[in-house]
Amino acid sequence: MAYQSELNTSQRILMGPGPSDVHPRVLKAMATPLIGHLDPEFVEIMDDIKAMAQLTFQTKNHLTFVVSAPGSAGMETCLVNLLEPGDEALICIHGVFGGRMADIAERCGAKVTRVEAPWGEPIDPKQIKAALEQCQPKVLAIVHAETSTGVLQPLEEISRIAHDAGALFLVDAVTSYCGTELKVDEWGIDAIYSGTQKCLSAPPGLSPVSFSERAVEALEKRKTKVQSWFLDLSLVRSYWAGAKRAYHHTAPVSAMFALREAYRLVLEEGLEKRFARHRRNHELLKRELEALGFEFLVQAGYRLPMLNAVKLPEGVDDAIVRRRLLDEYNIEVGSGLGQFAGKIWRIGLMGESSTQNHVHVLVSALKDIF
Ligand SMILES: *Cc1c(COP(=O)(O)O)cnc(C)c1O
Repeated sequence: MAYQSELNTSQRILMGPGPSDVHPRVLKAMATPLIGHLDPEFVEIMDDIKAMAQLTFQTKNHLTFVVSAPGSAGMETCLVNLLEPGDEALICIHGVFGGRMADIAERCGAKVTRVEAPWGEPIDPKQIKAALEQCQPKVLAIVHAETSTGVLQPLEEISRIAHDAGALFLVDAVTSYCGTELKVDEWGIDAIYSGTQKCLSAPPGLSPVSFSERAVEALEKRKTKVQSWFLDLSLVRSYWAGAKRAYHHTAPVSAMFALREAYRLVLEEGLEKRFARHRRNHELLKRELEALGFEFLVQAGYRLPMLNAVKLPEGVDDAIVRRRLLDEYNIEVGSGLGQFAGKIWRIGLMGESSTQNHVHVLVSALKDIF
């Protein structure tokens, strides 16, 4: 039986929508012997992680920490804490993840107004202005980097619109975080969540989040209990931000060790240099893929540098070629989601996977197969 042999997975080259490749220093940190999650040494590690989360989010927000679960749990943390039954929310949808936010907001009992753009296009701020004539949302939410379509959504104007309407501005930065410009304080973002397995290049399973003073005030004004015990910030806060770290749940110690090292790598490189590297490798991949007959789904100016959504050349079979890339070259690329299934690929150049070498290896393999 298979379980009788030791775990022995293939050495993949991760070029999908996440997880991305992980630096050996991060893997080594993950193998550090365990300590208790209330050990004073672990409390120091949590403080390090919080400080590095603030630097990378470019925020001074005191309530900045890491949810012990993947990006979707960060999404749920923001929504279940900021919305109470009967509240209004305006959710922008231009792909899978905006749709997921709307689903969660409805489960919170919120009255949701959807503002939608065709998949592959950004949301136009004018659409939001028009929708705001019909509703009074407490929260206006949008995805910064829509991983299902490859769209980079400009945020600054929408932030101003949200604040003018008296709404809290909530942003999904799971894929953009640590891969492209993202300024939480300067851009007036009130609540934000991300993930660790995309441009941060740590193992999946954690979600850095941050809340502005305005968001914290909204939390304090709640009349009802948050329906999720695990994600209730009034409880989690006492573990992450309280003076005496009270037990809430057992933190995923090894994953935190890994995250600390991944953050150190980001800061050693420097945010601006990291963003420039992501842009450079995206440009290289673009030139190479276009020469092979691929076309970008998204118009220039709105393309994600870390997630390239491309239409397949005529006659290329999606499933067969992706399977050959995996079996014969150990390369993982992402398939299309939803209405793009079978029609596009999503090629990730995220974090440690954003290198010239990754581009050359993929392009060589494709030339071989074609
Ligand atoms: C990956 C992703 C998520 C969900 O993160 P998980 O870690 O898979 O739960 C949410 N939003 C966006 C934009 C993503 O790319």
